[in-house]
Amino acid sequence: MIKVGDNIPLELGGYAHIKAVLGSGGQGTVYRAAYRDKEYALKMYFKNKLKRPELFRENLASLTECSIENNSFVMPLMLTEDTRDGFGFLMELIPSDYKPFSDILNARVKFSGLYSIVNAAIRITMAFRELHNSGKSYQDLNDGGFFIRPTDGDVKICDCDNIAPYGDHLGIAGKPGYMAPEIVRGEKAPDKLTDRYSLAVLLFRLLLRGDPLEGSRVLKSVCLTEEAERRHYGFEPMFVYDPEDATNRPVRGVHNNIIKFWRIMPEYIREAFTYSFTTGLHQPEKRLIEKQWLDLLIRLRSDICACPCGGQSFVQSYEKDEDGKLICPCGTHFAPPLCLTDGKSRVLLCDGTRIYDDDLAATAEVVRNKLNPSLWGLKNHTADTWQCTLPNGQEKQIAPDSAAPIFTGTRLSINGAMLEIKEYTE
Ligand SMILES: [Zn+2]
Repeated sequence: MIKVGDNIPLELGGYAHIKAVLGSGGQGTVYRAAYRDKEYALKMYFKNKLKRPELFRENLASLTECSIENNSFVMPLMLTEDTRDGFGFLMELIPSDYKPFSDILNARVKFSGLYSIVNAAIRITMAFRELHNSGKSYQDLNDGGFFIRPTDGDVKICDCDNIAPYGDHLGIAGKPGYMAPEIVRGEKAPDKLTDRYSLAVLLFRLLLRGDPLEGSRVLKSVCLTEEAERRHYGFEPMFVYDPEDATNRPVRGVHNNIIKFWRIMPEYIREAFTYSFTTGLHQPEKRLIEKQWLDLLIRLRSDICACPCGGQSFVQSYEKDEDGKLICPCGTHFAPPLCLTDGKSRVLLCDGTRIYDDDLAATAEVVRNKLNPSLWGLKNHTADTWQCTLPNGQEKQIAPDSAAPIFTGTRLSINGAMLEIKEYTE
């Protein structure tokens, strides 16, 4: 048995000094450990719990050498020696401002706003795209493996020890609900296509806070025995909003989140989930690829709208009055916001709107003038100066940390991109 204070020899020399137990699971225990003046997490496996320990260790060794260009994955860094107490590996510690996804799902932790939620969805999708591009699959997708920073939606993905090249199956069963139906039925080993199913489940859970297959049918199973679970997630899976079959709809009082959030989702997101959990349920090769999800999620982020009361929603979800104003659930009627457009897509400019680059760094933010709050500006969060042309033709330079005035007809040149502020368009 490993105890606090023990030294675990590492394969490349030196020791990991055990400082505390962080948690224990089916496969092993995770410790906080010091190595060369720095603290890490050390995962040690119960050898008898691994189906094929040699294969597992071999895969781990290759993971320590693999370079997936994505810092969301908390990858194995260094293996321990094979000791009497088993073996394991060192990885980065999860910073304390990252919270378990399960705490977000059960509402113990709340996001700072819609931007953080959609950014988390984008980060997870980007991470999976890079993983799949490197020829590997995650295999064991479930909400225990994800940590999210609620203030901005940054993501750390753990349990990376099960990542393996396509075709290799480490004997990880995965978690019901996240596993593709063909795995639940025992017909297939995890691969890119089954990961894509799990990704759709994860995005659904993140955006709608519920299970895409758990509706009234599932509730009728008095207790979810293993057999019932195999039926609901493997042999007779049924999307809660299947357009052709209403027998598994969410139940008011039980699935309130899904009912509430489904209503505010733009049509293109509802369509993507409907496709994923009808056609994609039965035809793995037709599942949405990561790039398709990314395009949809970036569009979703550009549709975030805010009422003067501070409440946020997606712009499509507001009722409109006869003057075309948007009606917030708080009762306020407000004019649709102006948009920033590059001619192809547009983003709404509401109070507090943030604009992001491809690496999810905020490049601009809508701010109010301190002296005259009715004047809005677009603050430059980049290190470059923007060129701005006001509607009257006047040219201005917008230095970092200063703001361009938000008027219809203002044009901006940001890093070679030509943008214009226009009236709201759908
Ligand atoms: Zn409001």
